Amino acid sequence: MATAEITVAVEKAAHDAMCEHHNFDATVRVARIEDKGRYMAEVQIKCLDCGVPMQFMGLQPGLNFDGATVSLDGLEMNIGIHPQGQRPNPMQTLLGYSIEAHN
Ligand SMILES: [Zn+2]
Repeated sequence: MATAEITVAVEKAAHDAMCEHHNFDATVRVARIEDKGRYMAEVQIKCLDCGVPMQFMGLQPGLNFDGATVSLDGLEMNIGIHPQGQRPNPMQTLLGYSIEAHN
């Protein structure tokens, strides 16, 4: 590595260390679990300026089609999702509304 390249690498590292993370790139992929008829939203967020990924807080690691979990490295949040109308929404749940036709 030439001196100029090293200088650029050091300056970039210093810049990354000083990044205050003002801009973000969020990715949401939707996974369809074929044999279960279920869906998962897979969310990742990283700093647009320095590329550092954001770690999700307060979630259990694992997989839960009826809740939110986080990957073991904390960098991907997985949330069970459903088409509207196939499960009670929060308001219907509060009112004791039940739907028995789901899989
Ligand atoms: Zn940043």
